[in-house]
Amino acid sequence: MTSSQTTDLTTAKTEGHFGAYGGAHLPPHLVEPMAEVARAYEEARQDPDFMAEYQEVLAHYVGRPSLLYRADRLTRHVGGARIYLKREDLNHTGSHKINHCLGEVLLARRMGKKKVIAETGAGSHGVALATAATYLGLECEIHMGAVDVEKQHPNVVRMQMLGATVVSVHEGEASLKEAVDSAFAVYAAKADEYLFAIGSVVGPHPYPTMVRDFQSVIGREARQQFLEAEGRLPHAVVACVGGGSNAMGLFSGFLDDPEVALYGVEPGGKDLAPGHHAATMTKGTPGMLHGMATRVLQQEDGQPAPVHSIAPGLDYPGVGPQHVHLCETGRANYVHADDAQALGAFTTLTRVEGIIPALESAHAVAHGMVLAKELGPEAALVVNLSGRGDKDVDYVADLLSQQP
Ligand SMILES: *Cc1c(COP(=O)(O)O)cnc(C)c1O
Repeated sequence: MTSSQTTDLTTAKTEGHFGAYGGAHLPPHLVEPMAEVARAYEEARQDPDFMAEYQEVLAHYVGRPSLLYRADRLTRHVGGARIYLKREDLNHTGSHKINHCLGEVLLARRMGKKKVIAETGAGSHGVALATAATYLGLECEIHMGAVDVEKQHPNVVRMQMLGATVVSVHEGEASLKEAVDSAFAVYAAKADEYLFAIGSVVGPHPYPTMVRDFQSVIGREARQQFLEAEGRLPHAVVACVGGGSNAMGLFSGFLDDPEVALYGVEPGGKDLAPGHHAATMTKGTPGMLHGMATRVLQQEDGQPAPVHSIAPGLDYPGVGPQHVHLCETGRANYVHADDAQALGAFTTLTRVEGIIPALESAHAVAHGMVLAKELGPEAALVVNLSGRGDKDVDYVADLLSQQP
């Protein structure tokens, strides 16, 4: 098995294994549909017309390249290394998710599919996918636990306005896990009509590779922009890790630069007791989840453990398999920021820079601030601002009003 560390889309390897992790561990009826996706992606990424259209859509619809912003005010406030923010929050729809959703919908169209299907928890993946499907003229079906439909009402309305069908799932706990099962059941029955559009660098091959490749635009841009700004490479790059797509996208630009330290920041939640966090790298053990071999926060019976984070987009009990490999080979470092640190970074960035970050991204900002102090004023680093925080302001206002 070989690892795939190549970032260039035209040379990326697609075996789907990252050391001992990844692969496609699927029930028999899903093997062929996923193999079809892998073959189609392998062809597409080598097709200059496909890639040209993808680049064109990123430029003219998403608004790329996104800024690499030198955060002088935050730098002064912290008193250490120069902090740059990669502004994925400025993308159309407000986060990095639109990058891979557009890639997946373009692939679906190329494969002759009429619809894209996915599950969503907090709803951001559903909104980004519904947007991409609308733009490219495909239908979109989003499965969501009934509990989440209730909790994330504004995102449900957004998806429906965009023309997506939202299927409310009432089985079991009526949450993300049941939504995954429900979406996969529909997909398995109608794989000729649908492409399953996974929302991060997780799941069976080819998704960890494909979603990373679509997100690698973040790292390519950041590397070039940083070189233009500073005439050298950053000492470190930092990104939050839920499933790991925005982090993999940023890391991709620097994997072959050993002098650049890579930091993935996981949600430390309330504390590191079981059920209180989603720090899979720190507390997870090797296991199988959603068709991939990876680290998993699991219970004694092997079922995924309950997870918690202040940031809805980070509470996932697994992690992209390439991250586990990067951790075990020592190329990347994985740390965690807890709810309070993320909330602190959210408030600080908002008040100091006038930029309201997503609570997910606030985890990266929190560690970026710690690192900037450690590295000192001669150094410089890049923090990925994966999304904007408009979606979080009501919740944060509530939390702050409860604080003494
Ligand atoms: C979904 C989301 C994340 C977490 O997903 P990754 O795959 O780990 O990148 C992070 N930030 C924002 C803004 C998100 O919407």
